[in-house]
Amino acid sequence: MKLTVWTYEGPPHVGAMRVATAMRDLHYVLHAPQGDTYADLLFTMIERRDHRPPVTYTTFKERDLGADTADLFRRSCQAAYERFRPEAMIVGASCTAELIQDDPGGIAERMGLPVPVIALDLPSYQRKENFGADETFYRIARALARPCEKTARPSVNLIGPTALGFRHRDDVTELTALLSDMGVEVNVCAPMGATPSDITRLGAAHANVLMYPETGESACRWMERDLGLPFTKSIPIGVGGVRDFVAEVADLLGVAPGLDTDRLRLPWYSASVDSTYLTGKRVFLFGDGTHVRAMARVARDEMGFEVAGMGCYNREQARAVRAVATEMGVEALITDDYLEVEAAIEAAAPELILGTQMERHIGKRLGIPCAVISAPVHVQDFPARYAPVMGIEGANVLFDTLVHPLVMGLEEHLLTMFRADPEFHDAAGPSHHGGHAPLVAAEEGGAGPRAPVAESPRDISAKKTEGGGATGAIEVVWLAAAERELKKIPFFVRGKAKRNTEAFAAARGETEISVDTLYEAKAHYAR
Ligand code: SF4
Repeated sequence: MKLTVWTYEGPPHVGAMRVATAMRDLHYVLHAPQGDTYADLLFTMIERRDHRPPVTYTTFKERDLGADTADLFRRSCQAAYERFRPEAMIVGASCTAELIQDDPGGIAERMGLPVPVIALDLPSYQRKENFGADETFYRIARALARPCEKTARPSVNLIGPTALGFRHRDDVTELTALLSDMGVEVNVCAPMGATPSDITRLGAAHANVLMYPETGESACRWMERDLGLPFTKSIPIGVGGVRDFVAEVADLLGVAPGLDTDRLRLPWYSASVDSTYLTGKRVFLFGDGTHVRAMARVARDEMGFEVAGMGCYNREQARAVRAVATEMGVEALITDDYLEVEAAIEAAAPELILGTQMERHIGKRLGIPCAVISAPVHVQDFPARYAPVMGIEGANVLFDTLVHPLVMGLEEHLLTMFRADPEFHDAAGPSHHGGHAPLVAAEEGGAGPRAPVAESPRDISAKKTEGGGATGAIEVVWLAAAERELKKIPFFVRGKAKRNTEAFAAARGETEISVDTLYEAKAHYAR
């Protein structure tokens, strides 16, 4: 048992639903208890799809358990086939149904339906959503794809985009255009938009473009082995990633590595004078392995940030993330426990977090700006506008995404200079952080800003360092004058300064921090 409040990934059958919903003319019969239809909302609300996922649930209830649940599954399968007439079906069990061991695959096989029925065996208690998607697509490809004649012109399959994928819709559009500029056609994009008949044609491509290893790697590895299709390893996120990708595709297909950079603005935007203050900003990255490792390179090489920490929640990507972390000079954090992520972020005291919806909450609590770069995401990250993260336009989108949460250079400067100003005082906060927090009514005769009712969410310095923090077991007390001096430090770096000073004092066995200690610590760390 593990006490869990937030999970980064759903159970594996949600991954299977993401594949089924992404495809057309495929139906999923899911042996599941009443109530599991909640997962429909992920697609109809968060992704705002205009139709229900193609999933039939058996929705067994408590009283069904005394009867024949296997028969219930059989009847659901038959009804789903007759109603939807899909080209192929997938069948499987959710976590609770796994316990009653009805064997949906075996039952469906014995029914002799006139379409291919693909059995899924998803271990709900060991694996999670991404595994579910990857395994489901692998099973579908393996059951349906056959060797076939290659297309006359150079072509690739786009592999990995699913329903509920972070920016998958627009990444597909962007990559299709990028490949077209090189004279490369897309043979099949799958699972997104593909029918079972399309899957039978996968082998006609000259190579596979593995867009998201989380959801497509097993299928690509199988196609490489059994259909002789090589697949790309580079992730086309960021300018460097796109250039590597173009070179890799050119190499695999024997075409010229053309790249139209007319619309590319990231390099100049980050080189322009206003971006000078971005240099060396300390950034912490967390999310799925693919987005984290690609974004770490963008952050360091294209934005001039310093990577202060990074990690991923999906263990399947641990090795790849560790390799990039080593390159960045940090240790990778591989965990699906958001409390561990929060502790690591607090310890690293970054000035910017690039993460998931969870890190957005952590950022709010710690008062650190955050941009979302990976699933899990909420409805705001399925935007109506065109917003890829891959390709040339993706690089432009990333520049905006990474810069906006940071207080712009001038505003940051003003915040420090006009600390007592009613608009720019410390507690006001940047507007996108819900900065208009209620202020305490002006004290009698008083004027100007007042402390907010609650502790300012971004004032890390106001929090007590408890056991296990940078100071270890020693309780270090800040003297009033030193606390006032600390507040003169811009809030972006105040957390780090506070931690360093406490560690410095603790190392010298001091229990009080004076103004002198603060400056001695500053001099010590500047050496
Ligand atoms: S079967 Fe799994 S997903 Fe469905 S309600 Fe039970 S634990 Fe949740």
